[in-house]
Amino acid sequence: MSNSPLVSYTRLSPNHSGKRTHAIDTISIHCMAGNLSVETCGAVFAPTSRQASSNYGIGSDGRIALYVDEANRSWCTSSAANDHRAVTIEVANSGGAPDWPVSAKAYAALLDLVTDICKRNGIKRLLWEGDKSLIGQVGRQNLTVHRWFAAKACPGDYLYELHGAIAKEVNRRLGETAEPAAPTTQLGSLKVGDVVEFIGSRHYASAGAGTGPSCKPGKAKITAIADGKPHPFHLRAVTGGGSTVYGWVDAANIKTSDATTFRPYLVKVEISDLHIRTGPGTGYNDEGYIKPGVYTITEEAAGPGASKWGKLKSGAGWISLDYAKKV
Ligand SMILES: [Zn+2]
Repeated sequence: MSNSPLVSYTRLSPNHSGKRTHAIDTISIHCMAGNLSVETCGAVFAPTSRQASSNYGIGSDGRIALYVDEANRSWCTSSAANDHRAVTIEVANSGGAPDWPVSAKAYAALLDLVTDICKRNGIKRLLWEGDKSLIGQVGRQNLTVHRWFAAKACPGDYLYELHGAIAKEVNRRLGETAEPAAPTTQLGSLKVGDVVEFIGSRHYASAGAGTGPSCKPGKAKITAIADGKPHPFHLRAVTGGGSTVYGWVDAANIKTSDATTFRPYLVKVEISDLHIRTGPGTGYNDEGYIKPGVYTITEEAAGPGASKWGKLKSGAGWISLDYAKKV
């Protein structure tokens, strides 16, 4: 267990219970009910007669102090059960009752500190419902406030009302590193939002391999793209009822409005190892090599990885147009 690297002032208080008996899974934000510097707050927690402490303190200048090691249970929230599992933070107030506001610098430091505590202790998301009855149910709420455990205004209405915003911002920061790659929005010449002509008769529940129910062809909008999958386009019928397309479909079953006025053209194949496939993509069955020569393309389709494919007039299959020259 570690302390925050954001700490710039340390004055360890003797007021704590030693090692925690519970893993850290909660954060409790308090207000100092005064505009104390981190040094003054440290002095307040220094005498054993005070019988109070917090793990961290934040001054109005945005500096962060350590008073009780994170590994130890502080005496902060009037609840042993809470303080054994919660990291406690006292924030200085730039104004008085009843709101007890905090400075912009203190608030910014609080967001940084809470994010850091979550990262180092494996708290994936900060949860706040403002519901006292959820105390201890950390899967639903892992922020707690002093006013739930004692007749106190702490953390003040200003910070209390900001708890939802604190959770939201910290979760945004926590998500930044774990965010999945941006979804594909374009494949070949087709992109999400395009209205196309669906000419197939089958759609699928997922973009991956599998069987799917039959459906009617018609005009449809591309609502998602999954590059490199057997059924890379998700379509939603523009008009029509339940039996029209609403699912993942093969690239070969999509015609763009351009394609409806598509004119066959000739291509020259010069290489001797270009495969003929049963569909537009290397995921389709290999039908052998095409002989170098000139061929007529009667249809185009987008394949995986923005590759472009052409259907051979002979009916032999599809070839990658990236390896054929228009003549
Ligand atoms: Zn408090």
